Amino acid sequence: MKTKTVELVASPRPPHFVGDGFRVHNFIPSGYRMDMERMDPFILLDYNSKYTFPPSEKPKGVGVHPHKGFETVTLAYKGRVAHHDSSGGGGTIGEGDIQWMTAAKGVLHKEYHEAEWSKKGGEFQMVQLWVNLPSTDKKGNPKYQAIKYGDIKRVELDNEAGNIEVIAGEYKGTKGVASTFTPIYMFNAKLNKGGKAAFQFPAQYNTVLLLIEGSIVVNGKENAPTDHMVLMANDGENFEIKATDDAVVLVLSGEPINEPIAAQGPFVMNTKEELKEAFNDFNMGKFGHLEE
Ligand code: MN
Repeated sequence: MKTKTVELVASPRPPHFVGDGFRVHNFIPSGYRMDMERMDPFILLDYNSKYTFPPSEKPKGVGVHPHKGFETVTLAYKGRVAHHDSSGGGGTIGEGDIQWMTAAKGVLHKEYHEAEWSKKGGEFQMVQLWVNLPSTDKKGNPKYQAIKYGDIKRVELDNEAGNIEVIAGEYKGTKGVASTFTPIYMFNAKLNKGGKAAFQFPAQYNTVLLLIEGSIVVNGKENAPTDHMVLMANDGENFEIKATDDAVVLVLSGEPINEPIAAQGPFVMNTKEELKEAFNDFNMGKFGHLEE
């Protein structure tokens, strides 16, 4: 077993708005070295770092739009979001909850701040991740997993270092509740200042760490501050993080699907022809119907 070293510590890019409800820093795929091919199966990661929304009678967010060929995963750290899609999936997620929507052959959905939360406003912090699907699963039926914070299993670390919340994959024998189409590890590592956590993933799995709270040192060498992303190299299996402040770290590692990627807007397919077909199907109303 070899040490997995740090390839890059990426600072957050200038934020932009998605609709009027999500103020995000894009880490994947724009710029750096983290394009879709390098990060496969993680094809997009938008991070809404802590941002205070003023009270609004009309909930802010993103209106009806399509997705096809992948999954959208939203992790709520602060604030509340309501989601509805044309396959009948939907619900509200709050602090610690996760919605995992499989768009597969195509859905329409909308994402808004939850109405009551919107009226009060407050601090908002979320991650939206797109997970690619293998070509056969891009043709599958849409699916929706609502993962409540209380259903997420955690592993307590030795020496009161903190704990690892296992969302997907497995940590020290504890399995995550999320079902995935390809092997993926997704953890929230919640470490107390000075606490250490060790991880082991296959070398070829693409791996990133996002600093939601606090700061860490990776392998005793590289510092990663709040709101930064650490890209791990594909040169080994093992690495260790140590919190230099109370920290929350989103840990993602996934097996590359290694299929061609043809992406445009809300569609991620394997070929240009499939993309064209996706736009045609969408324009012909084949993604179903959803009220604004
Ligand atoms: Mn969406």
